Amino acid sequence: MTDLNQLIQWRREFHRFPETGWSEFWTTSRIADYLEEMGAELLFGKQIINSEFVRGRNQKVVDKGIQNALAYGAKQKWLDKMDGYTGCVAIFDSGKAGKTVALRFDIDCVNVGETKAENHIPNQLGFASINDGFMHACGHDGHITIGLGTALWLSQNKDKYTGKVKIVFQPAEEGVRGAAAIAASGVIDDADYFASSHISFCAFSGTVIPDLKNFLSTTKIDIRYRGKPAHAGAAPHLGRNALLAAAHAVTQLHGIARHGSGMTRINVGVLNAGEGRNVVPSKAEIQLEVRGENKEINQYMVDQVMQIARGAAISFDVAYETEIMGEAVDMSNDKALVELVSEIALQQPQVNEIVDYAFNASEDATILGRRVQEQGGKAIYFILGADRTAGHHEAEFDFDERQLETGVNVYTALVGRLLGD
Ligand SMILES: [Zn+2]
Ligand SMILES: [Zn+2]
Repeated sequence: MTDLNQLIQWRREFHRFPETGWSEFWTTSRIADYLEEMGAELLFGKQIINSEFVRGRNQKVVDKGIQNALAYGAKQKWLDKMDGYTGCVAIFDSGKAGKTVALRFDIDCVNVGETKAENHIPNQLGFASINDGFMHACGHDGHITIGLGTALWLSQNKDKYTGKVKIVFQPAEEGVRGAAAIAASGVIDDADYFASSHISFCAFSGTVIPDLKNFLSTTKIDIRYRGKPAHAGAAPHLGRNALLAAAHAVTQLHGIARHGSGMTRINVGVLNAGEGRNVVPSKAEIQLEVRGENKEINQYMVDQVMQIARGAAISFDVAYETEIMGEAVDMSNDKALVELVSEIALQQPQVNEIVDYAFNASEDATILGRRVQEQGGKAIYFILGADRTAGHHEAEFDFDERQLETGVNVYTALVGRLLGD
């Protein structure tokens, strides 16, 4: 049986020290402490990360994360194994021949400072974030906890399943940056089944959304222009204007022809350029994202972005580079798993309703799910309902901790059904 008090204790411990994507060194170290006690086989670093596919990882953030983690008591032996890359995979092997289930829980926080409001429960009970400017405002502290609760059950109930279970504790979900590197490492390529979920989102306590629909494929791209500074009065002709290249690119980006086969999105969210009023601007940076109803339509948007980035550089005779900062794909849940999760959910005393929902957003677990599907396996991403006090990514966010138990019960029942004798 799952012990709700244990789950709450874990969740509050992780809530207190949130870490942003690719800096989850203390978080990974603490998860590893618990998993080691449970007797899991553990994989870290390059064993689970293909560094070619790492997206949006900032070295300064990484260095600061390692420093913070050490100050907060992370074990050096785990940091050594991580080798600069956060996250870990736990393997529970039943010792019996059978299939493999992969479960994925994301572990990063959001770059938002936690509210100081007195009625906010983490403030009342003393487990609010002590890492200034960072907060588990998306509920990934809950995801870590459900992963650990499931791990504990797997360690104590090896007679109840065959084959093995791989639990992925994934870094950097925010900005959809972490999953591609884990998928490309091949660590879950032997999985016959894949399951992942989000807590709360659009579903309240007592409900589960087993078949989340309309995942959007997305790519996050940075474009950087490098020109040449010059005196704006005396010698503008000697400068190369990066700001103008970027400005032209932005208006063209928003003018990309829509795709006839399905929905697309584009948003240029950031444009930084220039050094001073009387200097020809030599630097500019654009941060943008595109989305599409499916992988192909999204790729069309990416291709158009790359053309425009290059064209503007040529027009203004500046150098440029592009970098993919994050990505996710669309995914359709496999019917058999949807039926199974629905059935299991309705057997939980805390769950009284199954809900249907179109997501119209992106989540990088889809990259892992699709990878398993492409190898002939089955995948599901579902929503575990939980009342919340504010929207995700808001400073006042908190969720109904009792649903942690529902989460563990759903995952353990799922493993029992998929891998049971
Ligand atoms: Zn989030
Ligand atoms: Zn989230």
